[in-house]
Amino acid sequence: MYDLIIIGGGPAGLTAGIYAQRARLKTLLLEKEVIGGQIAVSDVIENYPGFPSISGAELMEKFEQQARGLGLEIKLTDVIAVQKKGEEKIVKTSDGDLIAKSVIVATGAKPRRLDIPGEKELTGKGVSYCATCDGPFFKGQKVIVVGGGDTAVKEAVYLSKIANKVYIAHRRDQLRAEKIIQEKAMSTPNIEILWSHILKEIRGKTGVEKVVLQNLKDNTVKELDVEGVFVFVGINPTTDFVDVEKDKQGFIKTDQDMRTSEKGIFAAGDCRTTSLKQVSTAVGDGAIAAFVAEKYIEEMA
Ligand code: NAP
Repeated sequence: MYDLIIIGGGPAGLTAGIYAQRARLKTLLLEKEVIGGQIAVSDVIENYPGFPSISGAELMEKFEQQARGLGLEIKLTDVIAVQKKGEEKIVKTSDGDLIAKSVIVATGAKPRRLDIPGEKELTGKGVSYCATCDGPFFKGQKVIVVGGGDTAVKEAVYLSKIANKVYIAHRRDQLRAEKIIQEKAMSTPNIEILWSHILKEIRGKTGVEKVVLQNLKDNTVKELDVEGVFVFVGINPTTDFVDVEKDKQGFIKTDQDMRTSEKGIFAAGDCRTTSLKQVSTAVGDGAIAAFVAEKYIEEMA
């Protein structure tokens, strides 16, 4: 039996792993896909203190190295459910059941879809949810970014260095992104913001050819020729597998010590209800969750 199973290998999970190893807890970290989480595909991070400019992949490599250096056991497997048996937690995975005294859920979130005609059909054929992964395919071409948050505006700036022209379609007349990110976009000559516009449809035969846009101010509809569509309209949490109290969008509700509604189950990072989703806040969450899990285990004994 493990003292602690951490589900998710992003900044929150790896930090929890570092703190748990230093607390000498018998810990296992489970990750479904790749260590590093969503941030690993971020081109550049400029707001993680100590690293004025670093790529997401490089920063997460450092997190992983530090955790592994402390002896953290990491296993790649898919978690299907977390169940309770008395005080024990059963973590059901595609490779069998695991038992722990406590669990930290640090599964983060996944990009939200637009759910418009053409989106699904053309995903991977010009429709993308990751600029770092797919941006280089659009060298010298025209692309449209959908959304007005940090991700959309930041990734538009990244894409502007590759594509010939980058449109940002945002449904309001004000961006949500951090001001410093907005300023960068506004001063980039090949970025054009289409205010109060939404995408109605993505068209193309074997790849994206054009998008249909609606202007929400006057309800006019127009077509725009683009080769790529980058969708950054927010995130959905990955929390279906665990039965704890959640908010309307599915983010896990916790107290300030990362406790969920179930004793011995903690949540950290983007998968929980927070006002700010950053690497720096995920790191703080992970540290607190591991510390409070340690206290919980001590009290159990
Ligand atoms: P977000 O902050 O939730 O922004 C989503 C954007 O998409 C908003 O501008 C929203 O419009 C728009 N939107 C939502 N649904 C839409 C729809 N159906 N059609 C058209 N537009 C739609 O999501 P995010 O940018 O992915 O960021 C997620 C979290 O990570 C945030 O907390 C963010 O601060 C953080 N993050 C931080 C950084 C950083 O470098 N600091 C980078 C990336 C992400 P409205 O504005 O009208 O709601």
